[in-house]
Amino acid sequence: MESALTARDRVGVQDFVLLENFTSEAAFIENLRKRFKENLIYTYIGSVLVSVNPYKELEIYTKQNMERYRGVSFYEVSPHLYAIADNSYRSLRTERRDQCILISGESGAGKTEATKRILQYYAVTCPASQQVETVKDRLLQSNPVLEAFGNAKTLRNDNSSRFGKYMDVQFDYRGAPVGGHILNYLLEKSRVVHQNHGERNFHIFYQLLEGGEEDLLRRLGLEKNPQQYHYLVKGHCARVSSINDKNEWKIMRRALSVIGFNDSEVEDLLSIVASVLHLGNVQFAADEQGNAQVTTENQIKYLARLLAVDGSVLRDALIHKKIIAKGEELVSPLNLEQAAYARDALAKAVYGRTFSWLVSKVNKSLAYKASEPAVCEFHAFMIIFLIFPCSFEQFCINYCNEKLQQLFIELTLKSEQEEYESEGIAWEPVQYFNNKIICDLVEEKFKGIISILDEECLRPGDATDTTFLEKLEETVKNHPHFLTHKLADQKTRKSLGREEFRLSHYAGDVTYSVAGFLDKNNDLLFRNLKETMCNSENPIINQCFDRTELTDKKRPETAATQFKNSLSKLMEILMSKEPSYIRCMKPNDAKQADRFDEVLIRHQVKYLGLMENLRVRRAGFAYRRKYEMFLQRYKSLCPETWPTWDGRPHDGVAVLVKHLGYKPEEYKMGRSLQIAALLAIPATKMQATWR
Ligand code: ATP
Ligand code: MG
Repeated sequence: MESALTARDRVGVQDFVLLENFTSEAAFIENLRKRFKENLIYTYIGSVLVSVNPYKELEIYTKQNMERYRGVSFYEVSPHLYAIADNSYRSLRTERRDQCILISGESGAGKTEATKRILQYYAVTCPASQQVETVKDRLLQSNPVLEAFGNAKTLRNDNSSRFGKYMDVQFDYRGAPVGGHILNYLLEKSRVVHQNHGERNFHIFYQLLEGGEEDLLRRLGLEKNPQQYHYLVKGHCARVSSINDKNEWKIMRRALSVIGFNDSEVEDLLSIVASVLHLGNVQFAADEQGNAQVTTENQIKYLARLLAVDGSVLRDALIHKKIIAKGEELVSPLNLEQAAYARDALAKAVYGRTFSWLVSKVNKSLAYKASEPAVCEFHAFMIIFLIFPCSFEQFCINYCNEKLQQLFIELTLKSEQEEYESEGIAWEPVQYFNNKIICDLVEEKFKGIISILDEECLRPGDATDTTFLEKLEETVKNHPHFLTHKLADQKTRKSLGREEFRLSHYAGDVTYSVAGFLDKNNDLLFRNLKETMCNSENPIINQCFDRTELTDKKRPETAATQFKNSLSKLMEILMSKEPSYIRCMKPNDAKQADRFDEVLIRHQVKYLGLMENLRVRRAGFAYRRKYEMFLQRYKSLCPETWPTWDGRPHDGVAVLVKHLGYKPEEYKMGRSLQIAALLAIPATKMQATWR
């Protein structure tokens, strides 16, 4: 039989706090590598779960395995998502404290998969009833729908979520899931009209063309071949071997029914999807004056029908611009470039708003309908995590990650500190980098980057991306986390373009190109196109474009400000809950099984702040048990406590640790809080008995 020591050599430790050389990044990565090789993809840092994407199906998500984790203490079983899920669920039930699970990691690291498996775990292990079955179904089925509309094939991930998602599940007093709610953030709308080489548009377009019945396609005026549609071929990879669009279509269609879409709603929704494809095929030619004219009448005809608007009004709206100045309407023709811009803006607006509508529709179907209020909520959160390449969208996403990191620091350190206090154990606070300075740089009123961007967006006249950059340089020039070509010293200057700025994020330096910042932040749709949409008789479009937008004198909030406000609300929600963390990592860029790319892993260990996380855990006493549990487990190591100890568990433990030869500085015995007494021992000392 393999001895305990060699087994440990082979499979590493299941909690990084047990690493002897815990400050060494190399040892950390070696432990990950060993475990990955043995298909052990989960490892803890205390209560944080680190997960490495295996890129292959492992037999660890079976029903039997779910049962194994159900109601079992965290440390008694090997690390797993289910342990995190179960632990949250039990705290929710026994302590009545709202929980949230924060899942982060870069694109392709496994966030969406983790979320799905957690939901499945609850669906299988929570108490059931007829009503609950419906909620479970809808919760699970919301995924294929939102993924069809919000996910796409990118270079990094064949099923990449192009929006951030926050989801709550409400449980009733019996612990059964009775409702849910989803918040969506920052859908990458630009993908609707443009995709980089090797990437696709959102799945739904290809699913519809591949899977849609002939009749349906005929009604929508679509041909089966994606090559026919400009919006689908920018990335030159409409067909991908790893994706079965036809199958996915079937799953998505069934899911729509489960969520509660009737046939006519499905038709309205798909009409909008088709209209985006037709819009992409609208072409213009210049007349003698250089004004744009529509040359593709056929598309206008379909668009009029699908969007249920007047064709000639739509045609006019695509090639003219209407401004209201001093109460008077001014209409001017557009040139070719402007008309193409207006068309793309309409496609993005229609798709983006339909996506939000879809989320609200899903929410209605998940809404808790019983008369009793839900007592607690459980929260899973997922956000796209990207570091390169760096456009306006990535700027927003990295800002979001910066905020999440702050939350992580606050909550981990805070809760750690509170626990020591309540147990009456002295401890030395750990030094860590507080990234508040970077959050302020982005979000501060008047002086922050978003404020300055908004100011440029509102300034009439000649504001451009370049003037925005100049303003930035002027306002934040001495900030230690901000740099531009002009502000850089000679050596660094070479690495920065004239149209770029660099932020030193907590995770590392990121360079942003200002190109498109103003435009994307403004997110402008010409007034006459808005008007046309407000008059649409497609019920979904009609709900998406509200007439009050036309009469509202106040300027709509810019994209960055909207995002900032929704993030700040989200942070408030998350702060009020007890968090658990899942840190996902990607083992290689080739999406391959059994390949562990050390350079890539090292990079992720760094920006996920895992070493820092480990230091914080180790600075305290990493191993904690209730006295009874500890005694139960280790009493065999001491003749005085074996086979039974008749006194107080606290005293038994004192005898036991003394017998084991622990020095006073190596362990602390917490105050006895009835059954919640706490014992903490430096992890390394526990290795001999650790299983
Ligand atoms: P993005 O930020 O781009 O949305 P993500 O972190 O959500 O990325 P996923 O879509 O969850 O990444 O995972 C990418 C792919 O990796 C999945 O489609 C699946 O093939 C594989 N994968 C992820 N996690 C697992 C797992 N636990 N077991 C097996 N395969 C997995
Ligand atoms: Mg995802």
